[in-house]
Amino acid sequence: MEGRDRGMGKDWPRRAAVTGADGKSFFADAMLGRLARWLRVMGYDCAYERHIDDALLARRALAEDRVILTRDRLLCERRAVRGRFLFIEADGIDEQVAQVREAFGIDASRFLTRCLRCNLLLEEVSKDAAAPLVPAYVRDTQERFLRCPGCERTYWGGTHRARMREEVGRLLAPKTQR
Ligand SMILES: [Zn+2]
Repeated sequence: MEGRDRGMGKDWPRRAAVTGADGKSFFADAMLGRLARWLRVMGYDCAYERHIDDALLARRALAEDRVILTRDRLLCERRAVRGRFLFIEADGIDEQVAQVREAFGIDASRFLTRCLRCNLLLEEVSKDAAAPLVPAYVRDTQERFLRCPGCERTYWGGTHRARMREEVGRLLAPKTQR
């Protein structure tokens, strides 16, 4: 029994590599909001809903060709998710990211290309278009702007972005003592 809990189908990482426009897309369960957010920061398509029942999550993951990331053993027992999930063992974000990286070879090459709130791909907008929507100091110091087609939030460079970049670097750094 224990063996089943731990696992995804042996052939899964290879099959997962061909899904979605970005190569890898995920559906994080309700317990993995933090992991979902960091995957979005790295640019991965990661669906997440705080309130969604297991059956619906499984159906959507199947329909949208997503790998389910879950800490829910009952969810893993469902026939519909067989060969389509990764059981996340750790509580801590460092270990969780490490586990996803080991299974799917994630990287940060598409850092902040996706809305952290909506999970949609950001679109480049001109400085003129963005200018009325951002604070004056941002207008004065930034040249490049991105916008979410869903929530219309505008993204730009700066210290917050730099801090996230640093944290992603730390999360993806090879761990020596594991
Ligand atoms: Zn958005």
